[in-house]
Amino acid sequence: MNASNYGPVTPGIVEELKKICGEAFVYFDDQKKLEKYSRDKMPGRYGHMPEVVVLPGTAPEIAQIVKLANREIIPITPRAAGSGLSGGAVPVYGGILLSVERMNDIIEVDDKNLMAVVEPGVVTNKLDKVLQKYGLFFAGYPMSEEFCFVGGNVAENAGGGRAVKYGVTGQYILGLEGVTPDGEIVQLGGKRIKDVTGYNMVQLMVGSEGTLGIFTRIIIKLLPRPTVRQAILVLFEDPETAIAVGPEVMTSGRLVPTSIEYMDGFTFNMTARALKESFPYERIGAALLFEVDGTHLPAVAEDAATIRRICRERGAIAEYLATTDAEIERFWRIRKRIAWDIIQYTPHQSIEDIVVPMASIPRALSNLNKIGEKYDVAIPVLGHVGDGNLHAIPLKNPDSSVEHWQEILPALLTDIYTMTAELGGTISGEHGIGHKRKDFMSLVMSQAHLDMMRKIKRALDPNNILNPGKVFNLD
Ligand SMILES: Cc1cc2nc3c(=O)[nH]c(=O)nc-3n(C[C@H](O)[C@H](O)[C@H](O)COP(=O)(O)OP(=O)(O)OC[C@H]3O[C@@H](n4cnc5c(N)ncnc54)[C@H](O)[C@@H]3O)c2cc1C
Repeated sequence: MNASNYGPVTPGIVEELKKICGEAFVYFDDQKKLEKYSRDKMPGRYGHMPEVVVLPGTAPEIAQIVKLANREIIPITPRAAGSGLSGGAVPVYGGILLSVERMNDIIEVDDKNLMAVVEPGVVTNKLDKVLQKYGLFFAGYPMSEEFCFVGGNVAENAGGGRAVKYGVTGQYILGLEGVTPDGEIVQLGGKRIKDVTGYNMVQLMVGSEGTLGIFTRIIIKLLPRPTVRQAILVLFEDPETAIAVGPEVMTSGRLVPTSIEYMDGFTFNMTARALKESFPYERIGAALLFEVDGTHLPAVAEDAATIRRICRERGAIAEYLATTDAEIERFWRIRKRIAWDIIQYTPHQSIEDIVVPMASIPRALSNLNKIGEKYDVAIPVLGHVGDGNLHAIPLKNPDSSVEHWQEILPALLTDIYTMTAELGGTISGEHGIGHKRKDFMSLVMSQAHLDMMRKIKRALDPNNILNPGKVFNLD
């Protein structure tokens, strides 16, 4: 499959799109506007210009656009906030870029059923702020929550800082309204905690990266909001000691924190210094950020005390307890900002998203060091260590050329992914495959497994209209 399989977006088609969405919501010949939709937040060479951008406001409008695209065989790339890190929202074959940014209503907070119904363009953090007033809570907490959309979170099955205790986005998605790849509007699931009426289509759509349908409404299961939170920032002299402590808190401490975030010395020191925080930087080789929450202060405080004790016994050099929201957010600000700072650090890097079983994390870290030595590149690591999800970030060696970096990158990534698979892990825990990782899928799954997914895609989207060139190639 390549661009020549698709028809062009002609001025006549643009006129039809304007009739569907309204003139103001179709961008065609304004290169500056189109450019904004040509990439996501993945550093490197992964952008591609769309031929036209449409901003529909309703599900029926989207259905009409999808029908038109099938008639003319034009690819459609759905887009939420464009904060993805695998090129998922990049229109690799041009065609129609369909942004859901106008569909940003919180339709209902149903506190009798502990559910919310939202449109896909709602900013994740905005939903959280509204739920706070009801004493309710959506457990999703990607580090990009201030700008990513709930629709993008569902399409990527986003994880984040609270997954150790609460799991990932998909566990809270009970229903979807969406437009199928051939332009029908369907309702999947509903406000039901239990539902075994046929195949679980909702969870097939979760994590489908815009390839199987376009969500137009999302039904989310809510939880009562924890009323007590505490956080502990712990500093270590070396990464090996820190990385071993994370899982130990759960296995020896017999407790499940809300969060266990790992930051190596490079990433922690870079961002904490930039934020003008004062720490003993010359001694810091790694840091862990724990959060515990609940509704009963003595129980939460006891968990925090257990974590501090285990860290001290295992060689922490300093630990800091935060008990107010402001103090807790101060710690999280460091963790959240690292992703931004590292993206700005150099365009010649690869933000990886490997995930391994918890007990294999120390092995994964030492293998990453060996791979870094083999290719003579630094591989800083941070991540959601409590759920085995490590963001290893190979960086171009400043002493070597960009050409050399581009030449070694595929082999370096193959080594990282192969090592991950050997530990029982896989190549993406939360950022998705997009078009960045699609050529590496066979390293972690069998041909039969890949064929099952291809058959599903072909059955639902015979014209390969929705987000072609993502997750896997069809031929
Ligand atoms: C600084 C930073 C920190 C991050 N931290 C995290 C983190 O902690 N955890 C995490 O999981 N991710 C993280 N990410 C990655 C990213 O924010 C997530 O993948 C997020 O879920 C993407 O949401 P989005 O709204 O930006 O989606 P986009 O990037 O716009 O799209 C993502 C995918 O969803 C599809 N899509 C969008 N809307 C729809 C729709 N309505 N229907 C069907 N498909 C659709 C697109 O086609 C694309 O494949 C981070 C990114 C950055 C830049």
